[in-house]
Amino acid sequence: MYEFEFRTGKVSIDYGKCDGCTSFACVKACSLYGRNILRVQEGKPVLSVSPEEARRLCIECLACEQECYSKGQQALAIVLPTIGLDRLRR
Ligand code: SF4
Ligand code: SF4
Repeated sequence: MYEFEFRTGKVSIDYGKCDGCTSFACVKACSLYGRNILRVQEGKPVLSVSPEEARRLCIECLACEQECYSKGQQALAIVLPTIGLDRLRR
């Protein structure tokens, strides 16, 4: 699992599901709609900036997740904490 944080959550990529992906839709989406902070390295998407820069630069546009879902292999998830969920469950 490859993960990096942004201001309010994190991007989580299950590399096991990326095997064989040829679209790299996540990287293209970030360059088109986001801040162009992803690149391909050895067949996998990785940050092209430091984790600290990613935390500041990522605009949480969700494009990487949407495009991976529709054109990739459903490997990438935007993880956002649901405030109050623990209390609700209790
Ligand atoms: S589009 Fe999805 S499956 Fe393809 S490389 Fe990106 S995260 Fe992996
Ligand atoms: S949420 Fe947007 S800016 Fe952040 S990594 Fe995904 S596509 Fe790039």
